[in-house]
Amino acid sequence: MEKCIFCEISKEVIPSSKVYEDEKSYAFLDNKPNNFGHTLLVPKEHSRNIFDMREEVWCDLATPLKKLAIAVKEAAGAKGINITMNNEPEAGQIVFHSHIHIIPRFANDNMSHKLYGDGGELAMAEKIREIIKKNK
Ligand code: AMP
Ligand code: ZN
Repeated sequence: MEKCIFCEISKEVIPSSKVYEDEKSYAFLDNKPNNFGHTLLVPKEHSRNIFDMREEVWCDLATPLKKLAIAVKEAAGAKGINITMNNEPEAGQIVFHSHIHIIPRFANDNMSHKLYGDGGELAMAEKIREIIKKNK
């Protein structure tokens, strides 16, 4: 298999702003967030997308996904959350390691790629980690 960027991120070979990790999954901030706090949850076991993912791997994402939805909403001060997954290029997939987007939403937000300012990404990741710890 060619090098997979999300395999490398989940093995911490490539750095990311990690917000959560357990035995089977890893979550980090999207580096081109649609809104600040936009998080990606990936299974550690590689699959291209939902179509070749083992069912057990899919099920193991449920608990971290719920934790992250709650923590990302609070950390971003959002009113709502979108949970989405792009499967295959026609559906907008550009990274071919399964991942779920957790995107904070606000009333009348103008969702477009944003850039974190100085220290903003680290601060957001820290806030999400702290909320997950608090909610344990
Ligand atoms: P998708 O269109 O569902 O394949 O989305 C892939 C997402 O991964 C995009 O929102 C990218 O901004 C994000 N992304 C790509 N490379 C990285 C990276 N090294 N660190 C964080 N997010 C990334
Ligand atoms: Zn991979």
